[in-house]
Amino acid sequence: MSQEQRMQGQPMIILGDDAQRMKDESAQDHNISAAQAVAESVRSTLGPKGMDKMLVTSLGDIVVTNDGVTILDEMDIDNPTAEMVVEVAETQEEEAGDGTTTAVAIAGDLLKNAQDLLERDIHPTAVIKGFTLASEQAREELDEIAVDVESDDDERLEQVAATAMTGKGAEEYSDHLSNLVVDAAQAVTVEADDGSTVVDLAFMKIETQTGQSPGASEFIRGGAISKDPVHEDMPTDVEDGDVLLVDQSLELSEAEADTQVSVTDPSQLEEFIQQEEQELRAIADNIADLGADVVLCQKGIDDMVQHYLAKEGILAVRRVKRSDIEFLREVLGAKVVSELETATTEDLGSGTVSRDDDEELFYIEGTNDEAHGVTLLLRGSTDHVVDEIERGVNDALDVVASALTTGQVLPGGGAPETELAGRLREFADSVSGRQQLAVEAYADALEVVPRVLAENAGYDSIDTLVELRAAHSDGEERVGINVHSGDIEDTLEAGIVETPHTKKQALSAASEAANLVLKIDDIISAGDLSTEGDDEEAGGPGGAGGMGGMGGGMGGMM
Ligand code: ADP
Ligand code: MG
Repeated sequence: MSQEQRMQGQPMIILGDDAQRMKDESAQDHNISAAQAVAESVRSTLGPKGMDKMLVTSLGDIVVTNDGVTILDEMDIDNPTAEMVVEVAETQEEEAGDGTTTAVAIAGDLLKNAQDLLERDIHPTAVIKGFTLASEQAREELDEIAVDVESDDDERLEQVAATAMTGKGAEEYSDHLSNLVVDAAQAVTVEADDGSTVVDLAFMKIETQTGQSPGASEFIRGGAISKDPVHEDMPTDVEDGDVLLVDQSLELSEAEADTQVSVTDPSQLEEFIQQEEQELRAIADNIADLGADVVLCQKGIDDMVQHYLAKEGILAVRRVKRSDIEFLREVLGAKVVSELETATTEDLGSGTVSRDDDEELFYIEGTNDEAHGVTLLLRGSTDHVVDEIERGVNDALDVVASALTTGQVLPGGGAPETELAGRLREFADSVSGRQQLAVEAYADALEVVPRVLAENAGYDSIDTLVELRAAHSDGEERVGINVHSGDIEDTLEAGIVETPHTKKQALSAASEAANLVLKIDDIISAGDLSTEGDDEEAGGPGGAGGMGGMGGGMGGMM
């Protein structure tokens, strides 16, 4: 029945009627199909040869992307189980930054295989336990497959960056961008007191600028702000100058500006205007007296103050974003001044300010010892290009950071999944009862990665898998598919490199989501089938006694 229903294509899930779903015996099928359909929808983007999706948001905006989490975020999914799959992608994005499509594809295949097991009357609890066991085992095995990488091994780290960027709009410029990403990540890498490596992405900023090609993107030791001087007579380049950061406006206070004065003769008005001018002058004088060569102001700057500052040869920029001010404080080793009257020279930072060729932004480099903070300035011809580049670079940064902190990488191109599948099939022999079948189903699900990578690149996925399995059973654990050359080879050698952190995260996100979907159905059917008392997974941790205990027992496993 369920099979038939699926064949008739229960309309792409997504508009399920809640009440019915809760009662209907096909609820499980329905749920699983819903989750799977979402997984299907992003699978075709997996890997360098994956296709892009064009998404039109409800507001009519267009996003063209290959990024799993972006696609799922933009899709208007209105089905609780389908949403869980979207959450897999979101969790993966948060925890690892890359590997979202992988996580979702694996979750989809886990559910598909789970459905087969359920149809063979294997209880969801056994499936969940098997999946949990397999996931833990797989994560342990990954540690054994991982390969060490040194923090100064630029070549390997650039391969990690490039692999994360493949298939994104960034790919064409991936050599250049990988270079920048590794420089930037290394620049914010520090060794902690306990000897561990920390990549502090808080000291790295990503700026985007439309207009030039992505190949003109830059790594800046310091910051960049897309701003103009407030006055055309101001200098635009200042070499090793003193820089003042202010978060108050350089104007008359509002009370003063709004004051109403009644004047009885013209000289009184004159006097009043002069007094205002004097106060504005005093603001500029104050800045000059401090010795500032550059003022970066978070708020507005009065015309008169601009004029006086220009006369003093001081560069002033207004309405600098708060986040930029805070970042530049680190770059320049400055303090952020709120009251000019009480500011001292101690508050000034030091740095070199220069203009870019297009006269659109300022580069700001710190010149004192306290300076830290770097910027990746990403360029692209249009917003679409820049956005996709930024997504690619963000993924790359996250994985390079994880390679640096863990000191480990993995071969890519489906090599780890194939290797894990083999190892899990062996491990399954040691697992008793029906959970064994679930462990095997988990192993099969992992092979979705090499299968879809091959499929998306136009190769025969079955042939590919057969070849891969053969190589791995001969002990060649780094063999995967290189979709650029079409070769089945050592993908680490070929420069297709991932990180164990991303992969581990993808495995746990996928199995948690699959289990969650299965668990929900389990609770529903527990209510309906309260007389059955199916207790086949005896010996499992906590042995879920009656139906009542089942929910709690499984809750603990999730
Ligand atoms: P995800 O969102 O999971 O990161 P991607 O579309 O970025 O999805 O694809 C990642 C997969 O593509 C990884 O399994 C990675 O090893 C693989 N991959 C990257 N470059 C290649 C390549 N040249 N040949 C084969 N596989 C590759
Ligand atoms: Mg990726």
